[in-house]
Amino acid sequence: MTNSRFAPETQMLGYGYKPELSEGAVKCPIFQTSTFVFNSAEEGKAFFEMAYGKPGHEGEEMGLIYSRINNPDMEILEERLKLWDGGEAAAAFSSGMSAIATTLLTFLSPGDVLLYSNPVYGGTHKFIHHILTHFGIEVVGFHAGQTQKEVEELLVKNEYGRRLKMIYVETPANPTNDLIDIEMCSAIAGKFSGDDRKVLVAVDNTYMGPLWQHPLKHGADIVLYSATKYIGGHSDVIAGAAVANKEIIGKIKKTRTFFGTMIDPHTSWLLMRSLETLKLRMEAAAANAEKVAAYLAKHPKVEKVYYLGYTAKNNPEQREVFKRQYLSNGAMLSFDIAGGEQEAFTFLNNLKHIKLAVSLGGTESLAEHPATMTHVDIPDDEKELYHIGQKMIRLSIGVENYKDLIWDIEQALEKVEIKIMLPV
Ligand SMILES: *Cc1c(COP(=O)(O)O)cnc(C)c1O
Repeated sequence: MTNSRFAPETQMLGYGYKPELSEGAVKCPIFQTSTFVFNSAEEGKAFFEMAYGKPGHEGEEMGLIYSRINNPDMEILEERLKLWDGGEAAAAFSSGMSAIATTLLTFLSPGDVLLYSNPVYGGTHKFIHHILTHFGIEVVGFHAGQTQKEVEELLVKNEYGRRLKMIYVETPANPTNDLIDIEMCSAIAGKFSGDDRKVLVAVDNTYMGPLWQHPLKHGADIVLYSATKYIGGHSDVIAGAAVANKEIIGKIKKTRTFFGTMIDPHTSWLLMRSLETLKLRMEAAAANAEKVAAYLAKHPKVEKVYYLGYTAKNNPEQREVFKRQYLSNGAMLSFDIAGGEQEAFTFLNNLKHIKLAVSLGGTESLAEHPATMTHVDIPDDEKELYHIGQKMIRLSIGVENYKDLIWDIEQALEKVEIKIMLPV
């Protein structure tokens, strides 16, 4: 069952679970309990010493104490989550934001500098700018398309270099699918690390799920997920995860214990169920996305399609990053409709199957308007810089029959009137 020659999709069916500890149940039960009985006072003492990292227990396995610290569902889920990314360990959280917040606050202290890529998820942007800065952490942004030299100059010019502690990256960027080179970020981190200060690279891999991009293999130290998206995959849970080496995850888990941002047993159980079909779901969604992108690219009312399959074709630098870093074109795409907010809203209001909702990575397809919804908090000049216009619509493609998706998009586009601008 712990045979490492098996692929992750095989391991999702049993890895980390011992039926003999649960009356022979084929599936791991939900351990809906807050606390665990010790066999003796001596055992309780030993478990607590291990939980608090006291010496004398090297190589011993810690037992169950209390569900904020450990719980079988959370632990087995973590054992499985680490496999997709080839990490040594994982930590599961109550949400993507709690995974991000707990991780950043584990490693950043007052006076440290965080370098982050633009655009990032709206909640992350708010957290970085309104909460980290409140604790005296300085934040500085860069964006896809900036060269290593340009980013390094930005750090040196502002005397950020000696205080740089973490590089935080989201790639592909949401909603434009612009790519950031993780190896470049890792090289920058190496240059600015000192003997007493290793600069960590953290990558939010939510957009590609654990299947299509493996940041640890490109030099990242930490991979973060909103497990609400592809990992959960059915638009019915909120959860998060971090994957890294044992040392880093150990530190993150210590903070998690005292912030109380861990996942609960029932949600862990739901995610174990989701992980069994992760690969099937993601591959079905990616196959659909390819059909939808091809349809949109030929439509006269569509000006531009932002899809990895095209990003990679049209721009040589992005193509190089794509070839190295990605295993699929993914199932997230955006497009500019001919027109502006009014035309985009007409399209969204006329969809009959595809739901008008934020979030992504679920079995059902969703559509939204980034400029006024997920990315509303981004200042207008930055929106323009990153091409997040009023005419942009974002689609998360699900596992339906692709012909039904195209039918829905076609009939909604028919309702959109294009105003023909005559030269005056
Ligand atoms: C949704 C999302 C998050 C936040 O996750 P929650 O589970 O909603 O807390 C973070 N990053 C990205 C890229 C996301 O899409």
